[in-house]
Amino acid sequence: MIPVPFLTGKRVAVMGLGKSGTATSAALLASGAGVMAWDDNDGARRVAAEEGVPIGDPMVINLAKADLMVWSPGIPHTHPQPHPVADKARAAGVPLVCDVELLARAKPDHRFLGVTGTNGKSTTTTLLAHVLEQAGAPTAAGGNLGTAALDLPELPGDGRYVLELSSYQLELIHSLRLGVGILLNITPDHLGRHGGMAGYIAAKRRMFDFLTPGGAAVISADDGPCRAMAAELSRMGVRVVKVSVETVLTDGVSAPEGILLDNGKPVCDLTVLAHLPGRHNWQNACAVYAAARADGIGAKAIIAALATYPGLAHRQELVAESWGLSWVNDSKATNADAVEKALVCYDRIYWILGGQAKEGGIASLEKHFGRIEHAFLIGEATEAFAATLEGKVRFTRCASLDKAVLAARNLAVSDAIPGAVVLLSPACASWDQFKSFEHRGDTFRELVTALGDREGP
Ligand code: ADP
Repeated sequence: MIPVPFLTGKRVAVMGLGKSGTATSAALLASGAGVMAWDDNDGARRVAAEEGVPIGDPMVINLAKADLMVWSPGIPHTHPQPHPVADKARAAGVPLVCDVELLARAKPDHRFLGVTGTNGKSTTTTLLAHVLEQAGAPTAAGGNLGTAALDLPELPGDGRYVLELSSYQLELIHSLRLGVGILLNITPDHLGRHGGMAGYIAAKRRMFDFLTPGGAAVISADDGPCRAMAAELSRMGVRVVKVSVETVLTDGVSAPEGILLDNGKPVCDLTVLAHLPGRHNWQNACAVYAAARADGIGAKAIIAALATYPGLAHRQELVAESWGLSWVNDSKATNADAVEKALVCYDRIYWILGGQAKEGGIASLEKHFGRIEHAFLIGEATEAFAATLEGKVRFTRCASLDKAVLAARNLAVSDAIPGAVVLLSPACASWDQFKSFEHRGDTFRELVTALGDREGP
């Protein structure tokens, strides 16, 4: 836990009692701050109250007495409609911040590295932390992923905090000082929460307001909004390191063919890294290489660490090699864009998909249907997906994941295609049958493990 002594004796309102709000309340209480916390969900309030967190409805109490309000980034405070508590706090002149702001204020002298982007944040954050750690720097990673900001460990003075920063968090941070900021990509997402694309880009742009003098902005050269931002920052004199997996950069880090090039010179082969499959992961690896170099780590140490990255669960996670098949858990792929990243990595696929359908469906994946040996449909999206696949891909309606795993095993074993993959890449949210994408992926792993590895079905 990170203490926040600058808030000792202050009155702090906490809005939202999920992971970050709970950790924040605990850190505030341990530091002697006066806390008044709230969550619109009474179950969350009850759990917090049982842990000794004072609960009070901010719509009832006199908010003007609060010095600060710590806001859970998941709760809308501007678009599409501000939560009434946000309006009330602003009218009362109470600043709204998120927990990362408190971490930044608590550790003004530590080195921070930030990662943002529409896709790839968690992979890049954990990969960067792994590289720094392997190179000998005490490192902790968290923020939007994994550990909440104020639950991170206290690091010695030479330690690094690597923070995954969502656009929602970036809007609620003011004092962070970043030695390096990575912007991976910007594609339309969360537009409702930011009032449109311009608002979304502006939220991402905030990360570079936090760069320390001489700090490095690592930015993709592969999409328009990122290119425009890189050009603007360069004009301002910011040190920009460009990253591309589309073209060779003579003044940046690139890997269009999977060979990482530093200013155009070959450094290492990314295609052999089993836990970083696919072009999208080359982009993540290039960004990490650029960031670690900017942080003073030598190229050799970075290359060695890339090879030992264990991968992140639920993102093309190889959970088993059994029955002559590779079993891949890509439960995090909840939309067609994310699924496409996995489909292009394999040629002979037994594809398990379905769940709670999202807008857009899977029609955009048709160009990859030739890679699919057979599809196994589960959950609410079954009929919609069946309609898209009809006449193009052979499929079976399996209803549930356990039946799909069994059916995939039976068919794939009888087909006996060398190099075949059973891929759970659902293109759907999980909530019709599971608590979360993690729950769905863990269930898949358990089902596959339970199959064992015998000869034939
Ligand atoms: P995030 O934390 O931004 O959601 P993750 O690292 O958890 O990102 O990856 C989620 C999914 O996004 C992956 O399964 C993959 O399909 C896709 N992805 C990962 N990295 C990238 C990237 N650099 N560009 C585009 N898509 C990516």
